[in-house]
Amino acid sequence: MNGLRFNVAALLKEPTGASRERAIRVPPTTIGDRTLMAPLQGMVKLLRVVPRRNQAGAILALGELTTTATAECSRCLAAAAYPVSFAFEATYYPQVDVVTGCPVMPHQDDLGFDLSTNHELDLTEATRQHIELAMPMQPLCSATCAGLCAMCGRNRNHERCQHEAAEIDPRLAPLRALLTPDTLQEIV
Ligand SMILES: [Zn+2]
Ligand SMILES: [Zn+2]
Repeated sequence: MNGLRFNVAALLKEPTGASRERAIRVPPTTIGDRTLMAPLQGMVKLLRVVPRRNQAGAILALGELTTTATAECSRCLAAAAYPVSFAFEATYYPQVDVVTGCPVMPHQDDLGFDLSTNHELDLTEATRQHIELAMPMQPLCSATCAGLCAMCGRNRNHERCQHEAAEIDPRLAPLRALLTPDTLQEIV
């Protein structure tokens, strides 16, 4: 993705510890199948490193990003907006030696990423993964979302339906579960 790609050929030729800082500002976009409603912005530091057992070296990307992502409300299915901010750390390995142009041994780092063959570092996939991790398991459009009617599907945030009285308040459902016929008899 434009704005998340950096050419690191020059940095790869520098000694361990050399670094660059880059500001990131990507206009609202989609990343994977997630829609972002706000710009993706922050900073990334690109650091020349030589991980153990990896003679060709690598680039460690240390970033801090914020954005607002959308998710489907788990009760009413409307789009809900979630501000997310996260720090990330991702290691990028060359596929080609920057000086000789020869292919280098593939890296053995399961969590690592490949640089492109022309030494471009692309933060898109690492960013996508971190946004997904930052999203709640059960997104809600609001804490008081009334959800959809289980009988007719009407959105109860917007309209009433004839099934409302028939259903017990979901917050009381656990209490009803305690009232099995046995316990009812004891109470009587
Ligand atoms: Zn909702
Ligand atoms: Zn209904």
